[in-house]
Amino acid sequence: ASVFAGIAQAPEDPILGVTVAFNKDPSPVKVNLGVGAYRTEEGKPLVLNVVRCAEQMLINDPSRYKEYLPITGLAEFNKLSAKLIFGADSPAIQENRVVTVQCLSGTGSLRVGGEFLAKHYHEHTIYIPTPTWGNHPKIFTLAGLTARTYRYYDPATRGLDFNGLVEDLSSAPLGSIVLLHACAHNPTGVDPTVDQWEKIRQLMRSKSLLPFFDSAYQGFASGSLDKDAQPVRMFVADGGELLMAQSYAKNMGLYGERVGALSIVCGSADVAVRVESQLKLVIRPMYSSPPLHGPSVVATILRDSEMFNEWTVELKAMADRIISMRQQLFDALKSRGTPGDWSHIIKQIGMFTFTGLNSEQVAFMRQEYHIYMTSDGRISMAGLNMKNLPHLADAIHAAVTK
Ligand code: PMP
Repeated sequence: ASVFAGIAQAPEDPILGVTVAFNKDPSPVKVNLGVGAYRTEEGKPLVLNVVRCAEQMLINDPSRYKEYLPITGLAEFNKLSAKLIFGADSPAIQENRVVTVQCLSGTGSLRVGGEFLAKHYHEHTIYIPTPTWGNHPKIFTLAGLTARTYRYYDPATRGLDFNGLVEDLSSAPLGSIVLLHACAHNPTGVDPTVDQWEKIRQLMRSKSLLPFFDSAYQGFASGSLDKDAQPVRMFVADGGELLMAQSYAKNMGLYGERVGALSIVCGSADVAVRVESQLKLVIRPMYSSPPLHGPSVVATILRDSEMFNEWTVELKAMADRIISMRQQLFDALKSRGTPGDWSHIIKQIGMFTFTGLNSEQVAFMRQEYHIYMTSDGRISMAGLNMKNLPHLADAIHAAVTK
């Protein structure tokens, strides 16, 4: 007997559950295109060379202890993270209007930001795009906010539903929070153009909508850290306020180290000081203080211009490999004469392609071809290589011609 005997079995996480199923499949031809983690051309996880070097330096430094970090994390890491996303010459940083706290990767940054808003902001509704990363609605609801949606993706064009987005944000109550993917929208791979971003910015500022940016892929979309940060910087340049959740999981390959940051750009330096004091009250009872190793690695790389440059080269190589897989997959479907317009595969950017395959086709491909992806038809391009790509193209062809 157990006091927990009445507990129901919970379903697997829709994204992480794909890997659970994949691991159970004995087939030698199986392919995991579920979770968004980078793989090399050989299908192996990658630790960046510059990360290995930084870790070696840290290990060899006898002056390093394992003391607790402050509640807000490693101060140098926080400064460098704000500079990375907002730009070294950001006026908001120079005017001391930015408060940054180290958090548990992107997820933890979103959660801390959400709880701060639930406690201190007058409007508790957060608008999230349809579709979005599956964890978003859960994070914000548990943080105490009410999640509502705005139109984002148009299945007919496999592109942005810009008019729908504008309509929905126009009718949102004044002051509502709006979650924006900074670049490489997950799961669709569809981003607004710079022109559209500018219109979104004007609309949001005119209605005092509060931007909450989620930046999980800086550098991964285009291969350039600055280019991928451009939309965010447009919003900072107008002097307005915003929240920013940053993750180093993908762009530095630090997934399991859980290293990220929450920044809040405030209207003035004295507001920033008070906001920081309240962020500490959110964090302290949640996990007391964040981990030490990950941010030490990041700070080691970001503070040193040579290591920084090496990072950008390795980052671009990852982005370029993904972009080349897009072209290869597109070409492979074309050469098979697979019915349909597949140009969205090369138009979409970032880690994922939103294939447009329906859940039945996804199930068919798992059953018959041992290819694993989320049921919404999202595939992680990072899991593809020259060896498994023909198998995927065969599977897609079979699924759509069946
Ligand atoms: N936001 C988005 C859009 C993501 O895709 C991810 C990673 N899948 C995250 C946030 C957060 O990931 P992590 O907590 O590992 O940094």
